[in-house]
Amino acid sequence: MGVSTRPDGALTMKAAVCREFGAPLVIEELFIDPPKRDEVLVDIYAVAICASDLHANDGSWGGALPAVNGHEASGVVAAVGPGVESVAVGDRVVVSLLRNCRDCFFCNRHETHLCERRGGFAIATEHRLHDAEGNDVVQGVYTGAFAERTVVHHSQVVRIADSMGFDVASLLACGVITGFGAVANTADVAAGSSVVVVGAGGVGLNSIQGARVAGASPIIAVDVSDQKLDDAKEFGATDVVRGDQVDVGEAVAALTGGRGADYVFVTVGSTAAIEQAIGIARKGGTVVVVGMTRTGDVVSIDGSGFAGDGKRVIGSFMGSTDLARDLPQLSQLYADGDLHLDQLITATYPLDQINEAIASTRSGQARRNVIIIEHPIAPR
Ligand SMILES: [Zn+2]
Ligand SMILES: [Zn+2]
Repeated sequence: MGVSTRPDGALTMKAAVCREFGAPLVIEELFIDPPKRDEVLVDIYAVAICASDLHANDGSWGGALPAVNGHEASGVVAAVGPGVESVAVGDRVVVSLLRNCRDCFFCNRHETHLCERRGGFAIATEHRLHDAEGNDVVQGVYTGAFAERTVVHHSQVVRIADSMGFDVASLLACGVITGFGAVANTADVAAGSSVVVVGAGGVGLNSIQGARVAGASPIIAVDVSDQKLDDAKEFGATDVVRGDQVDVGEAVAALTGGRGADYVFVTVGSTAAIEQAIGIARKGGTVVVVGMTRTGDVVSIDGSGFAGDGKRVIGSFMGSTDLARDLPQLSQLYADGDLHLDQLITATYPLDQINEAIASTRSGQARRNVIIIEHPIAPR
């Protein structure tokens, strides 16, 4: 625990603060409140940088400033508020943006990723972070993990094995579950299914390994980068297609008996890619939209052909993940060598160099860059 310098028990910590949209983050000392009812204070040991953080930093989604973004994290529970039973002080945990009440329409239908109270928790409407002048600081992307500590709702943390590295554990919070869960949960792909994954970046690689674990075949990766297609093979793609050099529809047809694929996962945020995906799914096939397009972008569908071919298009938010249900399984797959996580990390940086890490992520060449944070007291 850090040194408390205020009578209300708030701790000081370093954080990377977004003061102005599009400007570099500023490393500052902030105050963080102790956890209130149903909340958990976590010492952050690793936090990965995701495209969503870039959108948040750039102001693409609006929101209030100043803010601390970052939502793909792991750490050690430092304190728990009243009512928290799922984790205890000293537990190693993954920290995610997903939070749920387990008691609303969606949570009762086992769709906790769509919890309708997500924006209504105390932590969403009150502020737990404050700057040196006493101004409130927003916890961006529901988490605020570009910092030495965060306070989140207890449903946002799940315990992991002490043997799991913080760096790889952080990836389970967002990128891995978004791609893997789209295959395993949203589409529930059966063994032997033919799968196309459009986009072999940080999310697409996880859809590819989700398809491999499901026993899909063939697994066809589509991208415009030879490097990313090499990565795709490493993660389980049986075939790769350069989307900018060949007719993707013909290439997929040639690999699927002329019918097209059972499933097409679109992991890039592009309306053109979604429209193309509808064309390369077989009759009765399913297109799963994983990547988010810009707000307001519209996809065109040929209505008569769509109905006549009996196709389905479904959206997948955060891999339809239930953290408490899915993270233990993913951790086990990693321990068994079936889930590649170490290979997803391109580089690690200290918190002081987060702007360099973000610039590298923005270049599009990194799989995942991870910020590693040291704490004076070693985890147990
Ligand atoms: Zn993310
Ligand atoms: Zn709920």
